[in-house]
Amino acid sequence: MPATTQPTPSTASFDVEALREEFPALSQDVYEDTPLAYLDNAATSQKPTPVIERLNRFYGEENSNVHRGVHRLSQDATEAYEGARTSLAHLLNAPHKDQVIFTRGTTEGLNLIASTFGEMVVGEGDEILLTEMEHHSNIVPWQMLAEQVGASIEVLPVTDRGALRMDLLPEMLTDDTALLAFTHVSNTLGTVNPAQDLIDVAHAEGVPVVVDGAQSAPHMPVDVQALDADFFVFSGHKMFGPTGIGVCYGKREHLEAMPPYQGGGDMIDQVSFEETTYDGLPHKFEAGTPNIADAIGLGEAAEYVMDLEWEAVQAHEDAVLEYATERVEAVEGTRIIGTASDKTSVLSFVFDDIHPYDAGTVLDREGVAVRTGHHCTQPLLKRYDLPGTIRASFAAYNTREDVDCLIDGLHKVRQMFG
Ligand code: PMP
Repeated sequence: MPATTQPTPSTASFDVEALREEFPALSQDVYEDTPLAYLDNAATSQKPTPVIERLNRFYGEENSNVHRGVHRLSQDATEAYEGARTSLAHLLNAPHKDQVIFTRGTTEGLNLIASTFGEMVVGEGDEILLTEMEHHSNIVPWQMLAEQVGASIEVLPVTDRGALRMDLLPEMLTDDTALLAFTHVSNTLGTVNPAQDLIDVAHAEGVPVVVDGAQSAPHMPVDVQALDADFFVFSGHKMFGPTGIGVCYGKREHLEAMPPYQGGGDMIDQVSFEETTYDGLPHKFEAGTPNIADAIGLGEAAEYVMDLEWEAVQAHEDAVLEYATERVEAVEGTRIIGTASDKTSVLSFVFDDIHPYDAGTVLDREGVAVRTGHHCTQPLLKRYDLPGTIRASFAAYNTREDVDCLIDGLHKVRQMFG
């Protein structure tokens, strides 16, 4: 532990050391005698033992295909798979588990919406309103749709500090706006966007709203009914769950009106060569054998997250972010990118004179896992005229000691690159 470290205080309801013990990957050395400081949680989080064990139990004891089998294992697998859907519905406060569609992740959720709902509501001459801080996965599917139907993309800008220009929203929502899609939390800046305001203003103009929750679901309780989001999508792997699985929540009236996303087994009611009728929700959107094990693992992750004391966890995450911000600012030649007043868990910064990739490579040798580059937000980086940033991103299990490792690493970077 570096000499400067003040041990991370635990509150009565949140013991960070106990939490860390539940994540086996955190306690490893990455190079000889170099403990891991894992600060790449916006890319993917580590997994707790209950999720890892749940995956093992599924493959060891319950493995079978779902929905179509009469035998015991198939019934067990179906029960576990549908039980996971119920857990996810609770996590999001969805009115019904049928409104929880399993996808491969945020990217697939957004593609699903663009190519079904999008095709229904966006037509020639229409506008799709996005924000300047979107991840490529909340840009490209809409561009593909716009190209196909003859619509255009409009972009709500960000301020120098990385907040949305909410003052421009009313004038950007025109009679031609067919849809608004925005990220709840920016993966590059850490900005928490005013989701409720965005949705309310859009709805007042009759515009449906798609929320990219990839970076919010891991850091705050989400209530899709209170938000009144038309769609809310996220990925399991950033929220202590497995990779390759995520959720697309939608309002029932939309999901029922939407055409299927993909055709195949499990999504049909009756098939003949003349005509096929489709199954109801949620199966209409889950063609083929789903990712059964990982859906069950994600259900376990949802239960795990729901058991956390959110208030205490958020206070802890905010304290770690604040500590990291102060300490990075104090390193010579750094500049923080994204200083909006409402932020969570992401600290992006640059050195005046050192390429982010060089810094990331030195940090890696010190056991510090950060991400460098454009973070799949090239338009945003262009806005700030940067090739990329160094991004440290935190989860509930990160500590001030992790931040101290980052700072020691940054001093090494300074020494090596002058
Ligand atoms: N949106 C945001 C804000 C993200 O941070 C990410 C992942 N970096 C995605 C979408 C895409 O998520 P996935 O790759 O899991 O589909």
